[in-house]
Amino acid sequence: MSGVNRAAKLPVENGGSLPASSDADPIAKIRQVLETGGRFLVCSHARFDGDAVGSTLALGMLLKAMGKRADLVSAEPIPHLYRRLPGAHTIRTASEIRGHYDAAILLECDSLERTGLRGLSRQFLVNIDHHITGQPFAQINWIDREAVSTGEMVYRLVRATGARLTPDMAACLYTTVLTDTGGFCYGSVRESTFVLARELVLAGADPIAIAQQMYFSLPASKVLLLGTALRRLKREGRLTWLWVTQQDMVRTCAAPEDCEGIVNIALGIEGVEAAFFLRELHEGRVRVSLRSKGEVNVAAIASRLGGGGHENAAGCTLDGPLPRAVQEILSELRGALAGVTAASA
Ligand code: 5GP
Ligand code: MN
Repeated sequence: MSGVNRAAKLPVENGGSLPASSDADPIAKIRQVLETGGRFLVCSHARFDGDAVGSTLALGMLLKAMGKRADLVSAEPIPHLYRRLPGAHTIRTASEIRGHYDAAILLECDSLERTGLRGLSRQFLVNIDHHITGQPFAQINWIDREAVSTGEMVYRLVRATGARLTPDMAACLYTTVLTDTGGFCYGSVRESTFVLARELVLAGADPIAIAQQMYFSLPASKVLLLGTALRRLKREGRLTWLWVTQQDMVRTCAAPEDCEGIVNIALGIEGVEAAFFLRELHEGRVRVSLRSKGEVNVAAIASRLGGGGHENAAGCTLDGPLPRAVQEILSELRGALAGVTAASA
């Protein structure tokens, strides 16, 4: 095999840091399930992001390389942005899972509900997740909160099985690392992240082509929607927020995926510590994206409001109307920021 294996310094044999909610030696358990079974389901959360799509596709490729049948299923169509990833067309859209699988592998989910799919409770469940709000809801649980993406965990699984890391797998896994670290910017990035990125590039991922696809192939609707949101930008000290209404979505011909990343522009302002973005949904509810630069734990806030995520990037869905949701988040974030200021005074 080529040099891609020799330089590996990533923890391959064990799960890295294992919080209490992971099983003992989860990689070995999952490997055994994969080796003994024949038919698998792989799914992730609704509103696919780069990590959800990339890790689903790479795990599907691993299973096929092992001679297994892998059904890749999503509750919603894949966002346009990720449709050029290798094998993206093999993800099937469904609302219910029928039939029997040797295991259903859930990536990035803290519950069955998060998949948006019905019929999963009948299956043997394997949970692979890297969120701080991850939950041990499955028969086998591997939750590594230190992993930069669920794709990083799939990478370790590929290594543990001894399968060849193909260029297509590498491209999918590189996409998970690039997108879940915000282009190698977030606090989750460590030295080992670059070792992983290097491994994936050596195995055939094209970092330039992937970055161009993720960041320089935006649909015009997304830029128009961003303009609308930016005109509404509000600031209160170290806090910023912005939102879009259903009417804005219709006027700019925007798809829900066009909202991804808008919150980061607000967070990018100098002196701002936390930002949030809201999108009014059809049914009168409101989707919220929360971000911080490192001092405020937004996962704790999202968790209290029925959502989840990472310390610096989290989300939830609230009851409307929109101004009420704004006030709910504002009071949470004002409290959190006051706590931070008091602690550092
Ligand atoms: P985003 O703001 O980009 O939708 O999500 C930021 C992070 O929070 C992602 O890692 C996403 O998986 C997580 N997240 C967003 N919404 C929810 C939610 O409703 N429930 C849970 N458990 N996690 C969420
Ligand atoms: Mn992720």
